[in-house]
Amino acid sequence: MSSDPPTFAVPPGFLGLGRRERDAAISIAGIPLDIGTTNRSGARFGPQAIRQASRMLVDGAHPTAWIDVSKLMLSDIGDFRIALGDIPASLKAIEEQAAAMDHLVALGGEHGITLALLRALARRKGPLALIHFDAHVDTWPDNFGQSYAHGSVFYHAIEEQLVDPRRMIQIGIRSPVQREVFDWTVAQGVTIISSEEVHERGPYAVAERIRSVVGDAPSYLSFDIDALDPAFAPGTGTPEIGGLASWQAQSILRRLNGLHFAGMDVVEVAPAYDVAEITSLAAATMVYEYLALVAVIRSEAR
Ligand code: MN
Ligand code: MN
Repeated sequence: MSSDPPTFAVPPGFLGLGRRERDAAISIAGIPLDIGTTNRSGARFGPQAIRQASRMLVDGAHPTAWIDVSKLMLSDIGDFRIALGDIPASLKAIEEQAAAMDHLVALGGEHGITLALLRALARRKGPLALIHFDAHVDTWPDNFGQSYAHGSVFYHAIEEQLVDPRRMIQIGIRSPVQREVFDWTVAQGVTIISSEEVHERGPYAVAERIRSVVGDAPSYLSFDIDALDPAFAPGTGTPEIGGLASWQAQSILRRLNGLHFAGMDVVEVAPAYDVAEITSLAAATMVYEYLALVAVIRSEAR
């Protein structure tokens, strides 16, 4: 039926994409920073693992959006430069590289990269709406004394007014957390949906809640893979039980069509703890679902 190579022989870029087309509508880049992790390290190897697993997704159209995602105007531009061993210098380097991208989809790396990506984007678009999947609120003011690491991303994003907390929603939250950190987050106006609430209410109700919170504002999707249960995503640094099934996250994402997405990242994939690519395939598929959403908007606009 096709002369395309079988999935296992697809070239090593995300969805087999080349790395040269810098004028593509959407750029995909790896950001292999992981020195801000507070438990298991290893997310620096996330980008390549996600790319490898993504090649399962090229042999046909998306089964509900009916788009061949790998044939969209996408480019995998490779990995961003980071400053080895230096978090502030790495954030600066990431922000500079992201500033040159019109619409970036980032493969992490740990969640700390999102602060740099939001800084670059908010400078162009103002404070963003934020859809944040995670087991953790990531609004700690510091991480064991370190200001800029993966647990303080959204504390800084709110303080720097990169996101509008009244248009920010967190989904899958369930980790231990100091009461004052949780209360501070809610007091800023952030909507928090626990994983238990996802299980009880279902993907449709959660998607409706997301839509009502972000409205028609430019929206950023930040997907920490530990939002998923360790049964579905063992390959991550700070796993927490009771999380989302991969089908629940997929089902929520598929119901977010029509939102004004400005960018996305998937973070915290640590392949050394993975089993049979289960985590990296979940991460690759969340990106795939996002690309199908953005593509639908673009074709409807035509
Ligand atoms: Mn996180
Ligand atoms: Mn997390």
